[in-house]
Amino acid sequence: RRSSGSQPSSPWRENRKNVAIVGGGLVGLLSAIYFSKRHFAIDVYEKRKDARNDKLISDRSINLALSSRGIEALRKVGLAKDVLDNAIPMKGRMIHDKSGKTNIQSYGMFGQVVYSIGRQKLHDILLEMVDSLPNVNLHFENEAREIDLDSSKIVLHDKDLNQLSDIYPDMVVGTDGAYSSVRRAIMKKEKMNFHQEYSNHGYKELTIPPTSTGQFAIKPNYLHIWPRNDFMIIALPNQDKSFTCTCFFKYELFEKLSDSLMISEFFKKEFPDLLKVIGKDRLINDFKSNPLGPLLTIKCHPYNHKDKAIILGDAAHCMVPFYGQGLNCGFEDVKTLFRLIEKYEDDYELAFNTFSRIRHKDAVAICDLSLENYTEMSSSVLSPFYKIERSIVNG
Ligand code: FAD
Repeated sequence: RRSSGSQPSSPWRENRKNVAIVGGGLVGLLSAIYFSKRHFAIDVYEKRKDARNDKLISDRSINLALSSRGIEALRKVGLAKDVLDNAIPMKGRMIHDKSGKTNIQSYGMFGQVVYSIGRQKLHDILLEMVDSLPNVNLHFENEAREIDLDSSKIVLHDKDLNQLSDIYPDMVVGTDGAYSSVRRAIMKKEKMNFHQEYSNHGYKELTIPPTSTGQFAIKPNYLHIWPRNDFMIIALPNQDKSFTCTCFFKYELFEKLSDSLMISEFFKKEFPDLLKVIGKDRLINDFKSNPLGPLLTIKCHPYNHKDKAIILGDAAHCMVPFYGQGLNCGFEDVKTLFRLIEKYEDDYELAFNTFSRIRHKDAVAICDLSLENYTEMSSSVLSPFYKIERSIVNG
């Protein structure tokens, strides 16, 4: 549903408090679904176009590793089956050395898996459900430009109409990502501590196409890793039998790989098996033309201002992707918040304050573990003792 920034009246909205969800990404859409189960009229404001019409998620990772913490949050609103039907289970890591030899490290002794899901597909599934909810309105191309928590006012810019409008919601949920404007508004009202740190690694995505006979070029049910200590590449399978590879290199290395010869020589030396399955021409073309993305960590506290505003997902905690937990954690935020809302019988101030207090240490822990997991993925997995250590840890 496409609509402008004003809130249309409908029987569903009468006598309901209004929640404005700023940011219609994955965490924002799941939040809308959870809020729709309480007595609220919900408006989701998303600055981009409807992603079903435009493939606009292309500046973020194309696929994601979804694990039990994210799946549980989807299960609570009946979406886990639909999502997992469209996902590919990965039962372990497949490590590729320079000579092309592979080694498998299972995720668990009891067949545990994590799932690879297309970001676009996950978005579409959430959007379809949000669209079917009578008390939720989606407003694309509506950017929150100013948020004033004293007067509860949000100034929206409607890109389509090139028009500003004011709204006065009862509650604001900030799911507007790492550069959150809701977080900035909470900062003005609360003594918020804030820490932001860029990684010296950036990321660039490449594609391993299906083979000429339409098959996966490498084994599909694994998360593939090419660990090379200072840099690494990972690959996750897609439903169309391609793989999305993510190169995690330091910025200096990306700068060095500036021409076709350097790119092909580098891949020939470090990733010969990958060069073969991607193909030299495609590799050079994609490496030169695909965007280079930054990786960053954001920690802050508290996450709320009374029962007026709260931030969830990357707006509250942004982490490097080496643990594959950013979105999983964002989904778990939503589940955790609603467990508290139920426990405190819709006392939103108590639920929001408690969420801020208990969630912060978990968010900091996973941000730190994500940074540490770079060493695990890029070097420790190469250790000959790795299997022995893991089997001791797993009992
Ligand atoms: P976002 O996805 O950033 O969405 C925020 C939304 O808010 C956007 O749609 C934006 O347009 C909108 N917005 C922003 N400002 C405004 C405004 N002022 N007004 C209106 N709308 C606004 N996580 C995993 O769990 N598993 C993985 O395997 C994984 N892999 C990753 C790989 C890479 C390379 C990267 C970079 C990240 C990865 N992540 C992974 C992390 C994951 O992508 C994020 O944690 C997740 O996308 C956060 O979702 P979000 O909805 O909180 O924020």
